[in-house]
Amino acid sequence: MADRAPDPSESICPYCGVGCGIEYEPDTGKATGWKGPVNTRGEICPKGAAAWEIVDHDDRLTQPKVREDGRLVSVSWETAFERIESECSRIVSEAGPDALGFFASSNCTNEENYVLQKLARAIGTNNVDNCARLCHSSTVAAMGDRFGAGAMTNTLEDLREADVYLVAGANPAEQHPIVFRSYLLPSIREGTELIHVDPRTTDTTDAASHHLAVRPGFDIPLCNAMAKVILEEDLVDERFLEARVERVRTFREFLSSVDIDENARLAGIDPDELRAAARTYGEADRAAIFTGMGMSQHHCGTDNVHALLNLALLTGNVGKAGTGVNPLRGQNNVQGAGDIGALPDVLPGYRPVTDADAREAIADAWGFEPPATPGLTEVEMSHEFGDSIHGAVVFGENPAVTEPNANRIRDRLGRLDCLVVLELFHTETAEYADVVLPGSAWAEKGGTVTNTDRQVMRMRPNAEPPGDARRDLSLLCELGDRLTDERFTYESPKAVFDEIRTVLPQYGGMSYAGIGTGSQRWPFPEGASEGVGVLHAEEFANGRRTAELRAVDHVDPVDPASDDELVLTTGRVLQHFNSGALTRRSGTLTRMRGENALQIHPDDADDRGIDDGDTVEVTSDHGNVSIVAEVTPAIRRGTVFATFHFAEPLINRLTGDTLDPVAKIPEYKHTAVRVTVTS
Ligand code: SF4
Repeated sequence: MADRAPDPSESICPYCGVGCGIEYEPDTGKATGWKGPVNTRGEICPKGAAAWEIVDHDDRLTQPKVREDGRLVSVSWETAFERIESECSRIVSEAGPDALGFFASSNCTNEENYVLQKLARAIGTNNVDNCARLCHSSTVAAMGDRFGAGAMTNTLEDLREADVYLVAGANPAEQHPIVFRSYLLPSIREGTELIHVDPRTTDTTDAASHHLAVRPGFDIPLCNAMAKVILEEDLVDERFLEARVERVRTFREFLSSVDIDENARLAGIDPDELRAAARTYGEADRAAIFTGMGMSQHHCGTDNVHALLNLALLTGNVGKAGTGVNPLRGQNNVQGAGDIGALPDVLPGYRPVTDADAREAIADAWGFEPPATPGLTEVEMSHEFGDSIHGAVVFGENPAVTEPNANRIRDRLGRLDCLVVLELFHTETAEYADVVLPGSAWAEKGGTVTNTDRQVMRMRPNAEPPGDARRDLSLLCELGDRLTDERFTYESPKAVFDEIRTVLPQYGGMSYAGIGTGSQRWPFPEGASEGVGVLHAEEFANGRRTAELRAVDHVDPVDPASDDELVLTTGRVLQHFNSGALTRRSGTLTRMRGENALQIHPDDADDRGIDDGDTVEVTSDHGNVSIVAEVTPAIRRGTVFATFHFAEPLINRLTGDTLDPVAKIPEYKHTAVRVTVTS
């Protein structure tokens, strides 16, 4: 798979969805930024700067392993593949193809994910999903439903033109540092106002003119009250409503029953502050919404995003520069993993598996027709491990840490007949594996990734995987050849990309050479000279001229906190990434942040006799953890916060099983917990 670039290697950061260009000096391992399509001055954040440390790490897996007599032992590739082949064919012959499940990875390339979803479908199952399910599936569902595209409506570049940023449930200063530092902050310094909706005070809040410290689980009352203020104060864009919006009268009727003060009380926000923020958003010529997991990771995550979309439509903030609704994606290829069809209900290009025409069209390219029944989502698959699902392939994910109700998930992982894990390190999930395949790190692979503002960029390998480890793409292709009757013979990542272009209309006009060291943005249909920046300008991505306003009712959290309980909300910190499987192995990053901590408000701490630095026991209906308390007014009273990056204390032992009914995203942001001091 020849796809080499000269030293020093220029590739794309393996971490967040910003997609910064990073390069490294192979002799010293020092990582720096190069002037990529997003980080145009070569700036990178601490995670990017430490990215080489996971490539050149002593813990890297260097040989395949299979479980023998309860222990993982090193074997040849042939032995590992033979084990996978015999177990998977036994499972399929005994229980059918849907007894297998495939976890793709939003942290791996489009080409790798494409091959994995294709091989699952060649076996005969749509049980394939990726960890976008856990972060923005609700955003994609709502935006796809109303606007026809589950992606950023705008580009980072044009968003500099906004007069107001409404950042809801996101902390870009820490989670998308280069977006914040290089795009938002310069505009804010020149007068753009920032409204920050977050129960915590973070580095993002420091730049805000309005902070709405919403109670977790009460975003819909907040958005509905803002919509009512906008209507009452005549801040709606009547011309836009007339031309581009449906169900306006119905929505006005719905808002007539909304009580701003009551909704503000429910949301835990001063009504005057809420009114002021709504006024700021409504009065702006150009207002842009950024949304993150504080909105999406709820049992009502899809409705939360619908409520945000109402604000943009009411004020005409769609289809022009500096506006829109812009999900900040968490992993470097979370957008692409969905685009290429690593999802259980859609094929590449988001065409439903239930659509006979779509299946037929893809059969022309593939030589076989994918199954017509939607598969299970990621958490649904995990819950079926040991029941209807007997075997799973987990590629570059660590569900033992990232999925909710971790005690249950770990029990389920242990019930599989055959768990295949393709990884860089012996992760917490690999503990349960029957076969472990050593794969390739970011500096060792080619292919493309699609960042948060729809830019497709190329990664470039300039290092060899250690020992017997192999490049992920060649490994997945061999799995496809061995497990199916189809041929997965691709000469290079480019060959896979060329096939992707034929089945994914949004990528149809792109080329590997055209991307080069820059990027091409989707939608880029075949025959077009370039991709589209601002979406929905004349019509929405579904081809309709109009989108509808939608009445969204608040639904109470599924586990309301009693008087002596607090609400746990989980999230991320600057120094770590996702399950921490990579960043916890970085000496630099663990020196910056080495352990988990529970943020608790001083009044809640006083009530419980907790001092800063005490060890506390946190208990929910699902499990308990011991964790150090960080007493801080940065968290709103009644709420506690911890990250899920650490294997211990593993905060997902506390979270529960409730899923959003539409997107099947878990409720990570509202768990009733009891907190007691233990030392
Ligand atoms: Fe990497 Fe994101 Fe940091 Fe850029 S902002 S260097 S993509 S982690």
